[in-house]
Amino acid sequence: MSSKSEKYAYRDLKVCTKDCLCLFVCPTGATDNETGQIDFSKCIGCGNCAASCPSRAISMLPRIYPKQKEKNKAVIKELFYLADSKIEQIKILKCLLDRSNNDDEKRFLKALIHSNKVMIEDMMRESSYMLPQSRNTNKLLIGLKGKDKGIDKIIDKLLNKLEVND
Ligand code: SF4
Ligand code: SF4
Repeated sequence: MSSKSEKYAYRDLKVCTKDCLCLFVCPTGATDNETGQIDFSKCIGCGNCAASCPSRAISMLPRIYPKQKEKNKAVIKELFYLADSKIEQIKILKCLLDRSNNDDEKRFLKALIHSNKVMIEDMMRESSYMLPQSRNTNKLLIGLKGKDKGIDKIIDKLLNKLEVND
């Protein structure tokens, strides 16, 4: 058992075809876990399992994520401005969708709504709001607290798991 390795193995259960090659090559037995997931505490990060998996179901993940790159404040401001304009566009498109009786038109409007959402996601990522370990994400999560007890519980769990590294 080692918690000092730089990486640990993660098995994607949706991709795993359960042929069990990883069980034979793991020197610590970390892959043979009743939960179906790899036992992180036993993993020494050798990578044997990932290399042997024919389904590419195993990824080696870093235990400590690198710090995010500094973003220019002016760029972030513009990205937020753009994201706001996309949100406005989505609101308008949804109104048009509600009023439309034409199937082709509806499909087109839905595609536009979807593409706007994807663009917002990209812009948030560029503004460092998509990295779970970023301080921005941490602040965002804390800001979402206090509206619903159920959501607060989930946020608290996330805050406990996500170590901020700026
Ligand atoms: S080798 Fe890959 S596909 Fe086979 S059990 Fe292990 S993770 Fe699943
Ligand atoms: S990386 Fe090595 S120690 Fe960790 S689960 Fe895979 S084979 Fe086992």
